[in-house]
Amino acid sequence: MALNLSSRHELVRQSEIRNMSVECDRMGGINLSQGISDLAVPKCVMMAAQKAIEGGYNSYTHFSGLEELRKAIAEKQKKYTGMDIDPENEIVVSAGSTGAFYCACLALLNPGDEVILFEPYYGYHKTTLVAAGAVPVYVRLSPPEWTFTDESLESVVSGKTRGILINTPANPSGKVFSKEELDRIAEFASNYDLFVFTDEIYEHFLYDGKEHIAPATIPGMRERTITISGLSKTFSITGWRIGYSICDPKWSRSIGYFNDLIYVCAPSPLQMGVAKGLIDLDKDFYQHISQQFQRKRDMVCNSLREANLNPFVPEGAYYILADISRIPGKSSNERCLYILREIGVASVPGSAFYHDKSGEKLARFCFAKEDYVLSEACTRLKSLK
Ligand code: PLP
Repeated sequence: MALNLSSRHELVRQSEIRNMSVECDRMGGINLSQGISDLAVPKCVMMAAQKAIEGGYNSYTHFSGLEELRKAIAEKQKKYTGMDIDPENEIVVSAGSTGAFYCACLALLNPGDEVILFEPYYGYHKTTLVAAGAVPVYVRLSPPEWTFTDESLESVVSGKTRGILINTPANPSGKVFSKEELDRIAEFASNYDLFVFTDEIYEHFLYDGKEHIAPATIPGMRERTITISGLSKTFSITGWRIGYSICDPKWSRSIGYFNDLIYVCAPSPLQMGVAKGLIDLDKDFYQHISQQFQRKRDMVCNSLREANLNPFVPEGAYYILADISRIPGKSSNERCLYILREIGVASVPGSAFYHDKSGEKLARFCFAKEDYVLSEACTRLKSLK
């Protein structure tokens, strides 16, 4: 009998985002493909993590996270969304929001259950669902506003539909779901008795005065909503792996048990660092993020326009989808490789965000970079004219 990979291995492959980064590193290019922020970690966050190591926070924590962090998350959530959360029973701290979502899928979805994903989607959402045995079904968002109709939601419902996923602000489109849209989704979710998984990791990256509305705050949504977020982006700590889910105790207990099984706990001293940041950093810190990133967004959008690569200007998050159809190539992958080889700027092929061929004319550019890096990337993009 030959040794073989499991049948499951086919479900999870190297992401196209990683592929493009590998090629970019090989060429020494500027990497606008990965969603990694180059920006500084807030000092208080770093200091508190160091202090925690020295102060003995080096063992396993409760599988739902340190009490200090759960309390800090509950307070922050109250302050910015108005939600009243019981830190004891309604929060599970996990290995990033990625870990939080995986545990939620394992706890709440059966093999074959269908979950509605808005498209363009974030690839990890799709793959996490598939890895958990669920089946993603797609509802297309129409540019430039990335809108959807009630009919498009109704058209994908089957007897197996168990959930819907909202990513607001969204990667890659930058869409910030409006109150009116969330009301419509809430009514839909109630009608079909669906779980609502939300990914709010970009909740503080908002432009042009847009407001983040936590879907769980829409009347009737609280019990069915699994709110997922994390600090990877807000505190520029993608490697720390701190995220969380917030939900009704009916669900959180089992989500916590899966978290225990897979990760045991999130890194203890880093939980303390994040707790300190959540307590100490005030509205100014978050407003500054939005201002700083809006400027970066505008800089890259202007350069893309000059290069005749029409950008869909994002309302939030830190990515821009742009129309690269004029670039030579038969697919988005070929077009992105052409851009990388011509000017040394890596982007993500639009095909990474669609289940069919609809992304072939698009590329995603990340603008979470230091100004001097972005400025050089913009000069190069403009030279593509
Ligand atoms: N969710 C979205 C929409 C993302 O874009 C990303 C990272 O790019 C993540 C989650 C990953 O978050 P974490 O580092 O908390 O796992």
